[in-house]
Amino acid sequence: MDPYEVLEISEEATEVEIRKAYKKQALKYHPDKVTDPTEKEANEIKFKEITHAYEILTNKGGAGHSSFDDPEDADFMNFFTQDFSGYDNGPPPPPPNTMKNEDVIIEIKLTMKELYNGKNIKFQLSRNVICELCEGNGWKRRKNGNLYDPPLIDCKKCSAKGYTERKLKTPFGFSTIQRRACPKCMSRGKIRARPTTDKNKCKKCHGEGLLKINENVTISIPRGYVENDKVTLKKQADQTLDGKEPGDIIFVVKQEENQSSDSPNLEKRCNDLYMTTTISLLEAISGFENKFLTETYDDRKLTWSTAKGKVIKPGDILKIANEGWPISNESRHDVSFGDLYVTINIEFPPDNWFSEKNDLIQIQNILPEGRQSTKVELDPRNSENITNYEIVNELPSQEKSQEDGNPYRNANPYNSPGGMPQGAPECTTQ
Ligand SMILES: [Zn+2]
Ligand SMILES: [Zn+2]
Repeated sequence: MDPYEVLEISEEATEVEIRKAYKKQALKYHPDKVTDPTEKEANEIKFKEITHAYEILTNKGGAGHSSFDDPEDADFMNFFTQDFSGYDNGPPPPPPNTMKNEDVIIEIKLTMKELYNGKNIKFQLSRNVICELCEGNGWKRRKNGNLYDPPLIDCKKCSAKGYTERKLKTPFGFSTIQRRACPKCMSRGKIRARPTTDKNKCKKCHGEGLLKINENVTISIPRGYVENDKVTLKKQADQTLDGKEPGDIIFVVKQEENQSSDSPNLEKRCNDLYMTTTISLLEAISGFENKFLTETYDDRKLTWSTAKGKVIKPGDILKIANEGWPISNESRHDVSFGDLYVTINIEFPPDNWFSEKNDLIQIQNILPEGRQSTKVELDPRNSENITNYEIVNELPSQEKSQEDGNPYRNANPYNSPGGMPQGAPECTTQ
C-alpha cells in the first residue's frame, strides 16, 4: 500500500496537507454515511486503509493506538464518535434538552365514580422558586436598591475550561477525547461568586438564591378521563439557578382497582358500559313496568318498562343510548356518552313449578303452541322416543369441534377468556 496514493497526495506533502487530505478522505468514506450494508463494508475497509496510511505518514502509534493530542484533531474525531454512537443501532438518540429541567410525574388514583363524574383535587404544592429579592444571586441589594453584580470566579468543576473531557475508544482502535459542555458554568468557565459573609447575604433567602414556598393548587380532572390520561401544570416544578426552565408537573390518572361497595357493577369497554340483568319467564312473556336495572355512576337509579305486548326472548340485548362512559372532549363544552348494553337472563321456573295439574292445562290453553311443535306422522317401525338423556349447559370444547371440522366452532363470538369478542377492535382514542 502506498500511503501517498491512498490519501491522494504528493510525496512532498506537509503535515498540514496530510492531515487535510486524511480528513477529506475519511469524511468521504465514513462507513456511517451509507445505508447499504455491502457498501458500508466496502467503506469500512477503505476507511481503515485511509487511517492506516495517515498513521504511517504521521508516525502516530504504530500499533494502531494513536492518540489525538492536537485539540483540532480531537474536535475532528468528536465528529466521528458522535456518528458512531448510532452505528448499527439506527440514528443516535437526540441530545437531552439541556434548557429545561426534568418533568415531575405524579400518579393519582381515582375510583370509577370519580373518573365518570370528574374531580377537582386541592393540594399543597411545595417547591423551590428563585428568590425575587436577589433574583437568585444570593447577595444583599446595594444601598440604592439596585441588584449587586457579583464578581466572576473560575469554575472549579471544569478548571475554568468550560468543558469536561472523556477518553473514548472508536471501533477502529483510536482513543479519542470527547468534550462535554460543563453543566455547572454552562461552558462559560466562570461562575458568579456567592456571598460568604452573613453581612453580604440576601436577607430573604439567606444567600441561597432559592426559596421553598407552599402553594395551594387545584387541578381539575375532566369527567370521562381514563387510565393514563394526563393533567399538566406547565413549568410548575422546582426552579433552579442554572438558567434552565422549570419542568412540568404531570399528573397521570390511574384507576383505583378496589371499587367501593356502592359503586355500580358496570363493566367498561371503550366508551360503552356492560351489565347483565335477570327477569322471570313470566315477565318475559307478560311485560313489566319500572323494573330496577342499575344505579349509575352519578347516583341515578335506572328502571325499565316493556312496551305493551312486547315479549323478551333469550339472547335479546338491551341497548340504552348515552348511558355509557362520558367521552371527554376538551374542545367542546357538552359531553357525549357511550351506550349501555344489558344482557338479559330469563329465569325459568324450577321443575314441578305448578301446584296442580289444572295449572298446566290452563297455561297450555293460553300459550300458543309454536311453529316448531307441529305434529309429525309417526310410524312405530322407524321412530324412537328418547327418554334417556342429560341436560348440559355447554357444547363440547372448541378444540374437539375443530378436529371434527365443525363449521360452527366460531358461532359464539363471546368465547374468548375475557368475554370480549375475538378480534374485537381496540378502544380508539378520541
Ligand atoms: Zn435572595
Ligand atoms: Zn465549568
